[in-house]
Amino acid sequence: MGILEDAIYNAKTAAGFVGKKAEKFVDISKLTISAAELSSEISKKCEILGRVVYEAKTSDKCYDKAIAELVEKISDLKGQLDSVNELIAETKNRVKCPNCSTVNSKDAIFCGKCGERLRNSEDMPQPDEVEEPKETEKNTVEASTEE
Ligand SMILES: [Zn+2]
Repeated sequence: MGILEDAIYNAKTAAGFVGKKAEKFVDISKLTISAAELSSEISKKCEILGRVVYEAKTSDKCYDKAIAELVEKISDLKGQLDSVNELIAETKNRVKCPNCSTVNSKDAIFCGKCGERLRNSEDMPQPDEVEEPKETEKNTVEASTEE
């Protein structure tokens, strides 16, 4: 079950990340685990279906109802798996605002609703707006006192 192990491994390593990033990774890991569980459930049901079909072909008993039920269950599980996979794709391309929970596009730097910063400075292509104007202020003050 490589996918499941990967998901757990990712969840563990993600714990080392900071804040929003870790939260995002864990969400995807949960979804990945759900997808893996659904896949294995589908495999099991398909295996049972195979056995039932074999029974039906090799005996005189009628298994139509059991087969129909299994087919329906497998279709249902496949539908659920599709939804989970869609969610995974969506989550990977979206960023949820930590302040107001609005979902923004992955490329958004600020939340479209509340203006909260969505990306860490390490993700920024260029330097952040300077957080230390004190230096310049001090210099200006010093310069003006000297005059
Ligand atoms: Zn927001």
